[in-house]
Amino acid sequence: MKIFKNNESMGAWSNAMHKAGETIALVPTMGYFHDGHLSLMKIGREAESRMAVSIFVNPAQFGANEDLDAYPMNIERDLELAENIGADAVFMPDKEEIYPNGYQSYVTLKYLPGHLCGISRPTHFRGVATVVTKLFNIIKPDTAVFGSKDYQQLQIIKQLNKDLNFGINIVGAPIVRETDGLAMSSRNAYLRPEERESALSLSRSLEKAKKMVASGTTKSSIVKEHIREYIEGFEHTEIDYISICDPETLDDMETIDKPALLAMAVQVGRARLIDNTILVNLNICPE
Ligand code: AMP
Repeated sequence: MKIFKNNESMGAWSNAMHKAGETIALVPTMGYFHDGHLSLMKIGREAESRMAVSIFVNPAQFGANEDLDAYPMNIERDLELAENIGADAVFMPDKEEIYPNGYQSYVTLKYLPGHLCGISRPTHFRGVATVVTKLFNIIKPDTAVFGSKDYQQLQIIKQLNKDLNFGINIVGAPIVRETDGLAMSSRNAYLRPEERESALSLSRSLEKAKKMVASGTTKSSIVKEHIREYIEGFEHTEIDYISICDPETLDDMETIDKPALLAMAVQVGRARLIDNTILVNLNICPE
């Protein structure tokens, strides 16, 4: 497995691969791998003949009071896991490589970032879209794999790929969970033992909502109110948002008369956790 720290050497590897008739899958990450990351790498490995993984804690996607400096890292372990799963290359630039002195270009989208996480993190998706654009330009992947845990991010990248004509096959991967249902996240490392139970309120509330909707509740406000009360019943939780919205546009849906995205962000102790699922009303959309 090759390790690259600068844009030129990473790009040269990609060019050489393409010249040799290989195709490249890219899995962008911020490191501190868990099984969610590894599931993306397995998909990448199957999708194309070569796989590159990037590890970059992107300062541009963190707000001023967020956890950039505290973000967990374990590069040695990450490299071992990536190699074991079959990565051919790891790109791990430092922040000056990506944002050198005098850097001034950013990528923004008009509508999708104005929803869900983008409301309380107003510069986050500008940072995501910018770094993903740069990774696409440097590595020129044929496929790029993203997790649907970050559902809004996945939608934004699909839109970016379309709008800017990257022509990359964007693959969305299912959410990988702990056995008790908690969505895996590098930020789960922040949870203190007494907060771990409260963190389960997210996935459990998704299950409750799915049941309500499957059995006929169609008013979003009723579902949202029910799960708001449920989550607030746990200690250490502070809800950022609970949204039921159109899975494509992310616009609010008042009535669940077609498959809807239920997405939420909840602060649990130091960890800002997100989770989501698709709600289906079985009367309207029989399986
Ligand atoms: P991160 O390192 O948190 O930026 O995540 C890198 C990629 O892994 C993103 O595409 C995430 O959506 C994805 N990812 C993170 N957690 C999970 C999970 N529990 N299941 C599936 N994908 C995930």
